Amino acid sequence: MKFTDLGLPESLIRALKKSDYDEPTPVQQSTIPLIQEGKDVMATSQTGTGKTAGFVLPMLEILMSNDSKQRKIRGLIITPTRELAAQVHASIEKYGRYTELKSTVVFGGVNINPQKKTLRQGVDVLVASPGRLLDLHGQQAVDLRHVEYFVLDEADRMLDMGFIHDIRRVCALLPKKRQTLMFSATFSPEIRALAKAMLFKPVEVDMAPRNSTIDLVKQVVHPVDKKKKADLLAYLIGSQRWEQVIVFTRTKHGANKLAKQLDKAGINAAAIHGNKSQGARTKALHQFKDGKLTALVATDIAARGIDIRSLGHVVNYDLPNVPEDYVHRIGRTGRAGSTGDAVSLVCADEIKQLRDIERLIRRDLARVEVEGFEPEHQLPATKTRQTRQPSKGSESQGRNRQRSGGRAHDENKSKNRVGNTQGTNRRRRRRGARRAAVSA
Ligand code: AMP
Repeated sequence: MKFTDLGLPESLIRALKKSDYDEPTPVQQSTIPLIQEGKDVMATSQTGTGKTAGFVLPMLEILMSNDSKQRKIRGLIITPTRELAAQVHASIEKYGRYTELKSTVVFGGVNINPQKKTLRQGVDVLVASPGRLLDLHGQQAVDLRHVEYFVLDEADRMLDMGFIHDIRRVCALLPKKRQTLMFSATFSPEIRALAKAMLFKPVEVDMAPRNSTIDLVKQVVHPVDKKKKADLLAYLIGSQRWEQVIVFTRTKHGANKLAKQLDKAGINAAAIHGNKSQGARTKALHQFKDGKLTALVATDIAARGIDIRSLGHVVNYDLPNVPEDYVHRIGRTGRAGSTGDAVSLVCADEIKQLRDIERLIRRDLARVEVEGFEPEHQLPATKTRQTRQPSKGSESQGRNRQRSGGRAHDENKSKNRVGNTQGTNRRRRRRGARRAAVSA
């Protein structure tokens, strides 16, 4: 399928050509026609699948077709983080470069006055984080009574971040008659409840089995003791000549500390997280995008919305407590059809998080010990029922060993069997215990 088959206006097709997009991605192929028909849509789309263009292109088409040139806010997009808001706005500017529509982005952490000034001049499309939008509304700087097209992006994350009341307040300010779209990496019961309250007879688009990770991403776990993680990371970056990597830590403090450790090891690194000023975050992102930084160390929230087109490597320095975050994290690589590596450095303390992730993605992650970094505290075995064929690089669990930064290879099938036998014995023991409990 070509973009022209979707009946998009010539000005948008021209912009897509300039962006070197050959054809719509699957999520674009399914959402764009539904939106063009005026339907409300709730889409579970994996991150990195091109969902932004999936809602931006038809929005621009709709707004262009009834442009009264009055510059009232007719398109509103809410995102959970500043970075994602900036990213979505950049996409609107990119795809809308040959249209006359005006757009802007507003988020907290920066001076509100320039935002008020731009809004006074009139825009057709507003991208906003919920808190700043409500602040602006409280100051009578924004009028949402003309919104025709409303998008809630990364709705699952909004709920995780406690924005539910803000979202409901924003919704109450919008006209009842509007088209509403909701995107979420996962659809929990809470998300469905929110959708029920906000969307009108939505069409559901489920682009992938729920919570599955991007198949193009090769996923591997390197078991390692906590105290050796920083050295192992520096070793991997150096020995495997990674050009650029995003590294995820669980805490802001952890991000700062790791960025310093990497710098010391001669690897250009910077940390981004919620305690950094917006200016510092933007600067670090630009430096990373310009290739001046090798490693960007980020917490989950700060990393939302980072879109770097050909990022080859993502490292989970700590596993996230919320397993869905793993899916979001590794979605930073393997975007729009390119392949990528997701490497998790996992210590024995993180077995619960690893188990939760494997259960969520319904596959066991390959474990590969790196020579010289073998853990003293072994990572206990996990066993998740395989519900589908694992993709390349995510074979069922086994303890392989990686030599001198080279490629991982199967080392020892008997060890693999030991892990499985242990799992079977454990299950037998549990079954025995249950029977004992029942008969007691
Ligand atoms: P998203 O999932 O919206 O964050 O998009 C992920 C990446 O895919 C971004 O870098 C987009 O610029 C890119 N992209 C979106 N649509 C296409 C397409 N049809 N062809 C190639 N790249 C695309």
